[in-house]
Amino acid sequence: MLRIGCHLSASKGYLHMAKEALSIGANTFQFFTRNPRGGTAKAMDEADVAAFRDFAAENGIGVILAHAPYTLNGCSAEASIREFAARTMLDDLHRMEYTPGNLYNFHPGSHVKQGVETGIELIAQMLNSILWQDMHTTVLLETMAGKGSEVGGSFEELRAIIDRVALQDKLGVCLDTCHVSDAGYDIVNDLDGVLTRFDNIVGLERIKAVHINDSKNPLGARKDRHEKIGQGTIGTEAIVRLMTHPALRDKPFYLETPNELDGYAAEIALLKEKWS
Ligand code: FE
Ligand code: FE
Ligand code: ZN
Repeated sequence: MLRIGCHLSASKGYLHMAKEALSIGANTFQFFTRNPRGGTAKAMDEADVAAFRDFAAENGIGVILAHAPYTLNGCSAEASIREFAARTMLDDLHRMEYTPGNLYNFHPGSHVKQGVETGIELIAQMLNSILWQDMHTTVLLETMAGKGSEVGGSFEELRAIIDRVALQDKLGVCLDTCHVSDAGYDIVNDLDGVLTRFDNIVGLERIKAVHINDSKNPLGARKDRHEKIGQGTIGTEAIVRLMTHPALRDKPFYLETPNELDGYAAEIALLKEKWS
């Protein structure tokens, strides 16, 4: 069964997102835990969460993906910025306990002149400070485009972070098609080669979610500008090959393309048709 959805606004709550997902042919969705630029999260609405859980069970909505604010930087040179990232993520993870068994994705961070080794060490330290044994969420490191001093643009960097974390069974990876292409991994012409490399370095079983995006820029551009499916340098056929690859076809897929709801509905319909 194809598990596919897109990024939705969380402003009207969980039940609203589930209904919206269903209305566009999706059976999962991604959302920001709070304003994508950071800031405080709304208090958890337990009635909404309970209604969401019933609705999701009745309608086959599964494995939802929460996305951390993208401005957090757990490997900043400034302790106060690192502490803010850790505090925010820990708060998010406590909130995620209301919807156990789901996924929480974050951008590893930018080391800003400290060097990638220091960045890796600080990210691992943060994860070690916030993960706990009995948590019910899997925390995903997103594969990054490698723009600026972003950590996580190579599979080796993701592996190095995971290696330094004590509770490794709480960790996974979210593979972003635009990001890996921008980082120089040729998923268009050498998908098998890229996945073999990922398997050798990180392990394909670590992939718990896939962000499905076309890219505005060519292979290796290190830009991170998402494009609509079929309108970028990756193309529909390469995306469908990735989504139907035996190593990935059972993973949940989330569109983060520049679309409104009707555009997402059209992309979901197209990918469902091609996937079957
Ligand atoms: Fe992301
Ligand atoms: Fe992404
Ligand atoms: Zn991106």
